[in-house]
Amino acid sequence: MDDEKLDLCHNNEAKCPYCGFEDYDSWELGIGEDVETTTECPSCGKEYGVMRNVEITYTTWELKDDKVLGGSDENRR
Ligand SMILES: [Zn+2]
Repeated sequence: MDDEKLDLCHNNEAKCPYCGFEDYDSWELGIGEDVETTTECPSCGKEYGVMRNVEITYTTWELKDDKVLGGSDENRR
């Protein structure tokens, strides 16, 4: 048999594990962050579990030296 597996993790849209249908309205499912729930596939009608993955990233940058507090600017006159 064809053993091709669907990529069901970390997709931009919820994908039905049965038929592979991508629910483009998955943002409207009202899923909480990292909360497991179920939804019905609009294509094949089967119910499947879905969870919204939220990836948190951080951005950092160096501060300029002249913006550092506590500098010696007070003594300059
Ligand atoms: Zn389906």
